[in-house]
Amino acid sequence: MTDFTRFDAIIDEHLEDWIEELLAFCRIPSEGGDRASLRLAAEWTADRLRRAGCAVEVLELGEDVPPLVVGELGDGPRTLSSVGHYDVQPAAPLDLWTYPPYNPAIRDDRIYARGATDNKGELLPRIWALEAWVEAFGALPVRVRHLVEGEEETGSVHLDALLDLRPDLRRADAALIEGGELDLAGRPMVQGGGKGIIVLELVARTMAHDAHSSLTVVLPNAGQRLVKALATLWDDDLRPVVEGLDVGAQPPTPEQLAIVDAQDPSTLDDIREDWQLERFNAGLDGVDALRALTFDTTLNIQGLWSGHTEATAKTVTPAEAHARIDIRIIPDQDPPAVIEALRRHLDRHGFADIEIVVSESEPAWWTPPSHPVVQTAAAVSAEVAGMPPSIGVSFPGTVPMHQVCARYRVPATTLGAGRADCRAHAPDENIRIDDLVAATKMMGRFLDAFARLPEVPPVP
Ligand SMILES: [Zn+2]
Repeated sequence: MTDFTRFDAIIDEHLEDWIEELLAFCRIPSEGGDRASLRLAAEWTADRLRRAGCAVEVLELGEDVPPLVVGELGDGPRTLSSVGHYDVQPAAPLDLWTYPPYNPAIRDDRIYARGATDNKGELLPRIWALEAWVEAFGALPVRVRHLVEGEEETGSVHLDALLDLRPDLRRADAALIEGGELDLAGRPMVQGGGKGIIVLELVARTMAHDAHSSLTVVLPNAGQRLVKALATLWDDDLRPVVEGLDVGAQPPTPEQLAIVDAQDPSTLDDIREDWQLERFNAGLDGVDALRALTFDTTLNIQGLWSGHTEATAKTVTPAEAHARIDIRIIPDQDPPAVIEALRRHLDRHGFADIEIVVSESEPAWWTPPSHPVVQTAAAVSAEVAGMPPSIGVSFPGTVPMHQVCARYRVPATTLGAGRADCRAHAPDENIRIDDLVAATKMMGRFLDAFARLPEVPPVP
């Protein structure tokens, strides 16, 4: 067993400087679409990895695409890829923030800023751990490869093409998903993956241009056309009824079912309480609800727009209507086949005129919870947190692990200490300073335990 006393002491020595670093990183408003800030954040990341001793390469696809920053350190026999991102979700609506999102504040031992957890405050501890390791023990026991992209929050649309510039970057023995979670009690929640996603628009266009609404007797209203089409997609309990929506979905294994069924059903009460609901869709509850949350393909309206939506009235008959939809998928669903199922459904119901415009899609990538890499992440997280871990099949959100892992069937796991109340993607995003320390300790211990694993098989 490696003694981490010196490693932990080094974290304490550096913590003040490291917090300043996180504050500086969070001052860069690297939201999707802000090209200058994304470039600045990419340069900041490259520079930080260089200072940690990494060999750094910045992969480019041209001016308009935020680069992929690659930083490698160590020449141990195994390679561990750590996936992260320097872009952030938009901070708007700004008036809901207690502290300005890009002028970080420290209150009650928490740092408040956009990106404080997702992902700047999860990325930095994984770099700090490399520095602390080298200072405490010398050479890393494995090769660590940081892959830090700038389009994670907008669907990682160029990640495949960026990785294709250096196909060897996909070769690794294991990969770390961008972060990890502790629940409010401090219990580590370790996951073998996330769902994939398809984002698309359904568009109705019924005539050449908008009209005076007195003509609606004879003119087809695009808004009405679209809601008629949408109404065919769900039953009265709001459950999707698109035949083939689950095409390609692997049926859950006995191991997966056992893990999901053993989850604490009180999390369902928490959800109902948080959203002030008496019941879930279709009366789902208990094991059925837990299974549905993990294994169901979802079909969700993100937003709807058509015609005049301001506070004042306007007697218009719109010629165009839009619904933005997201579909969460599981292994081994192939996005084109799922989109094809939706197309067939619309055609069959008489809506061949409704156009489908796909804006992003990424498949899911799951590693079995019994895999030694997931078990190792759970064990070291539990050791640092002082709490038994909870291991899950998949969290409901999406991460770009398929692009990184699928070709060579690389096993992946979450690792880190983002809290359930960190408000990622929401106003007042924050991270506890204690959790920055915990995440750094987890990464150090993971490197040690991962290097010692007798074998690290690929995902079957
Ligand atoms: Zn993220």
